Amino acid sequence: MVRSKNLTVRKIRAAVLRKKDGPLKIETLGMEGPQDTEVLIRTVASGVCHTDISMIHHWETADGPQVLGHEGAGIVELTGKKVKAVRPGDHVVLSYQSCGTCRECKKGRPTKCRRFYELNFGFHRLDGSNALERSGVHGHFFGQSSFSSHILATERNIVKVSKKLPLKILAPLGCGIQTGAGTVMNTLHVQRGASIAIFGTGAVGLAAVMAARIVGANPIIGVDIAPLRLKLALELGATHVIDSRCADAASSINSIIAGGVDYVLEITGNPQLLRLAIEVIKKRGTAAFFTGDGVPDFVPKGKKAVAIIEGDSVPQVFIPKLIKLYQLGKFPFDRLEKFYHFRDINKAIRDSKSGKAIKPVLIMSNNNSRYSIPDLYVANWNDERRESFSGSTIPDRQFYS
Ligand SMILES: [Zn+2]
Ligand SMILES: [Zn+2]
Repeated sequence: MVRSKNLTVRKIRAAVLRKKDGPLKIETLGMEGPQDTEVLIRTVASGVCHTDISMIHHWETADGPQVLGHEGAGIVELTGKKVKAVRPGDHVVLSYQSCGTCRECKKGRPTKCRRFYELNFGFHRLDGSNALERSGVHGHFFGQSSFSSHILATERNIVKVSKKLPLKILAPLGCGIQTGAGTVMNTLHVQRGASIAIFGTGAVGLAAVMAARIVGANPIIGVDIAPLRLKLALELGATHVIDSRCADAASSINSIIAGGVDYVLEITGNPQLLRLAIEVIKKRGTAAFFTGDGVPDFVPKGKKAVAIIEGDSVPQVFIPKLIKLYQLGKFPFDRLEKFYHFRDINKAIRDSKSGKAIKPVLIMSNNNSRYSIPDLYVANWNDERRESFSGSTIPDRQFYS
C-alpha cells in the first residue's frame, strides 16, 4: 500500500464493518489528508444504498475492516492546493468516483471509466494510498466512505449544491436516485408514450417511476411484493401496479398492454423476474439490469439487454437537473426518505431490508454552514498521541438529529 507523507491526521467517527453480516460499529479513527487534489468534507447526511447492504453480507475476513457508505452530503471544511471547484463552507453532494484521465472519462462517460471498479470498490485512492491506513481500516468506498463524520473526496465525485436546500434531503441523489432516474432519462432515453415496466419499486425503482412520468411514458407499470411500495408507486406516477405475489405478472402486463412493453427495468435480482423481464419486452424492446454482473445470457435475438451503472449519469450535470425537477415539484424523491441518527445505523439497515424504510438517510451533523471542528479533533498524528486517541469519543453534540 502506498503511503502519503506529511498529511494532517484528523480524528473522525466512522461506522466500521469488521464481520460478515455486521453489525457496524461506530469507532474513532485517524484520517490522513486532504491531499492536494482532495476535499475534506464534514458529513451532514448519508443515504444507505442496497450496495452497502450487499457489501455487508458478502464481507470476508480477507477484506479487512471497511467503512462503507456512498451517498454522502456535507459541507466543505478544507481543500487541497489543487482544488478549484469548491471552497470551505460550500455544500456538496457526493457521487461515485472516476479517474478523469482515461479515454471514457475524457469523452464525458465517467460511468464507463476504465478504473471504475477499482476506484469505487478498491478501498483506496487513485494513487493506491488509503487515508485510514494508520487505523488499519479501509476507506474510499466509492471515493467517499460516507458512513463517517468526515469524508475525503475529489472534484470528480462532488457536486456543489445550493445552501438553501437541506443536505439531508439531497444526500441519496448521488447513487440510488440518480441510478433510477438516469436509467430512464440517460441510458434508455425513454420517449413520450413509450411503455415501461419497473420490477422492484424500492428507491431506485421509484426514482425510475418519477422519471418515467416526467418524460411522459405510458403505461408505467410497477411490479413489487410490498403493498406499501406499490401504493407509493401509484402516488408517484405509476399508471398500474402489480403485486407479483398475488397476480401473474406476465399475464397482468399482457392485459395492460398486449404484445409487451418497450422497456423493463429489472431491479430485484430475482432469477424468476430476470427471465420475466426478457419475456415481457416486445420485439426490439430493451430490458435494463441492475445486478452489476452484466446481462443474462438468454436474451433472444431481436430483444436488447443493457447493464446499468449509475444510470449513465454525469453527476455534475444530472444531479443539478434532478434538484431543479425536485424544486419544481416534479421529482418528489424526499417522499422515499426516512431519517435516522448516525448511531442508529444498524436499525436503518434493518429497516431497509425489512421494507420499513425505502431510503434510510443517516444524519451525522447539522446543516449549519459555519464550518468549525473544535481543535480537539484536529491533531497532527504522532505516536505519543496514538494511545490517548484510541477509544476517545467525539461528544454527541456533533451528531445530532
Ligand atoms: Zn476514467
Ligand atoms: Zn448505491
